[in-house]
Amino acid sequence: MRFPLALMAKIAAHIIKHKLMGVEKFALVLQLEPLHTCNLTCTGCGRIREYSTSLKDIMSLADCLEAAKECDAPMVSVCGGEPLIYPKIEELVEGLLQQGRIVYLCTNGLLMRRKLRDYVATLPPAEKEAKLKELLQEKLVTEKEAETIRQGAPNGRPVFRPTKWFYWNVHVDGLEYTHDLIVEREGVFRECVEAIKMAKRLGFQVATNTTVYRETQPQEIEDMFKFFSWLGVDGHTISPGYDYDAAKRDMIKRLGKNPADFFLTRQMTREKFAKILDWGERFTIFGTRVYQEFLAGKRELSCAAWAIPTRNIAGWKAPCYLMTDGHYSSYKEMLEKVDWSRYGRENGQTKDPRCENCMVHCGFDPSGALGINYQKGDHWKNFKYNFGAKPKPSPEGPNVHAFNGCSIGQGHLSKNASSSRPVAGSAKSVYQTHGGGNSECCSSTPDSPRQELLNQIKSGKAIALKAEHCTTPTGGNGK
Ligand code: SF4
Ligand code: SF4
Repeated sequence: MRFPLALMAKIAAHIIKHKLMGVEKFALVLQLEPLHTCNLTCTGCGRIREYSTSLKDIMSLADCLEAAKECDAPMVSVCGGEPLIYPKIEELVEGLLQQGRIVYLCTNGLLMRRKLRDYVATLPPAEKEAKLKELLQEKLVTEKEAETIRQGAPNGRPVFRPTKWFYWNVHVDGLEYTHDLIVEREGVFRECVEAIKMAKRLGFQVATNTTVYRETQPQEIEDMFKFFSWLGVDGHTISPGYDYDAAKRDMIKRLGKNPADFFLTRQMTREKFAKILDWGERFTIFGTRVYQEFLAGKRELSCAAWAIPTRNIAGWKAPCYLMTDGHYSSYKEMLEKVDWSRYGRENGQTKDPRCENCMVHCGFDPSGALGINYQKGDHWKNFKYNFGAKPKPSPEGPNVHAFNGCSIGQGHLSKNASSSRPVAGSAKSVYQTHGGGNSECCSSTPDSPRQELLNQIKSGKAIALKAEHCTTPTGGNGK
């Protein structure tokens, strides 16, 4: 099966229960943001900008658990900020699992191996030694780290443990060059890969979570799926990046860039996602078949943002994960007070201009799951997809040039920095010039950092640094 039976059964039971009770609006997934502090400053992230004045504030553990109980979503996506910075993150995940929820822990990967080491430290001695041998062989832990692990768990705190109800959901927006450019720091992609490998060796379920921007070419997305499926990743979430207010303001103010050069319009999204139905056959992509058809431009869907509500330090955020017109003290109050008919698009007409280019997963995937814009055969289509055979790890994964070079210093922050990525035969150059961008409008803008870099390379001005100059961030083993 493409997705685990227990997981599908839990979600299906939740939907059927509410349909039978005649409840029109209910939560499918809770996006829980216990804090907005982050150890990265990704381009396009509205969170750390919109909530910049409350970055030090955190939700209490009790409030987090109460929010999950209140909206009763079967799935909780713990996000942020970087949730691994949350002081009681293990207790939070444990509490959500005890409530019987499916938990996705969305992380940028930087602190993930540290948390995995904490888990290994709690294993019985023989199992621990066997795991350490494997991890040392693959250089996923250092000798020094192994020594600390051998000494046992540092305190009596809970640790993350593998279970079918828990997924690490690692943020990767492309292969090495693109990802590091977007997260504005070198070495992050490498650390994510190491963390994913280590989690898989330890028996955890791992998903990847990708936002596609204008700079990302469809061929790169496909190669990313090949690479990560070959690494054993259990599924992929993918969503288009569009110019919502907070991110747009940051792009203009902090980076001095035109948002139109970075975010996707509706038309561009359809072009980027033209192959999503094919990708859905070949890779384990989360989401309904109906939403995939929407992304590919084959149909329209209405926004059902109320089904994936966001709860953070300020309250229940309305109307959606991306846009903020207010915060409410309870999910019930938000459902009742928000005029949901003001948002999204209907019959080709945009109701709120800010929704014009939005096709994001958290607004539209629920419409596919709940049959809101039902067309004959949709239920069967979704059923066949969810219960169909799980695609095998891609045999082409080992051939993907995933480590296609470090990005230019601090990514988009760095205007004229040189690149340490390989110059000759660079895979990224391939994506840029022949990478399947099927429209002029989707190509890099002439003044994008990457284009500047390619121009420098062409004119022989680029300083090609060696790959080992790439730095590895927090917890890395300095590859
Ligand atoms: S890792 Fe996530 S929360 Fe942190 S800056 Fe990047 S997108 Fe924002
Ligand atoms: S269409 Fe829905 S999810 Fe998208 S910005 Fe508008 S309200 Fe939010």
